[in-house]
Amino acid sequence: MAKRKRPKERPPLPRALFFDEAADRARSCGSKDAYPSEQHARATAAMNGMADALNVYRCRYCEFWHLTRRREEYID
Ligand SMILES: [Zn+2]
Repeated sequence: MAKRKRPKERPPLPRALFFDEAADRARSCGSKDAYPSEQHARATAAMNGMADALNVYRCRYCEFWHLTRRREEYID
């Protein structure tokens, strides 16, 4: 009796493939100011009195640093 291969393959990354990079990029990068360093970003947040409300993160698109609201989720 021949072994039957189970169709175990996963569907080809339905969401990841169609992940809207342009929108994500616009949201996490394009619409934000970019800072050359984490310190710079933090200093700017502090200057604006937003140090408690903002997080800094390194952008995976432009490799600069951006500020984001603390509640906002971002993907590392
Ligand atoms: Zn960026």
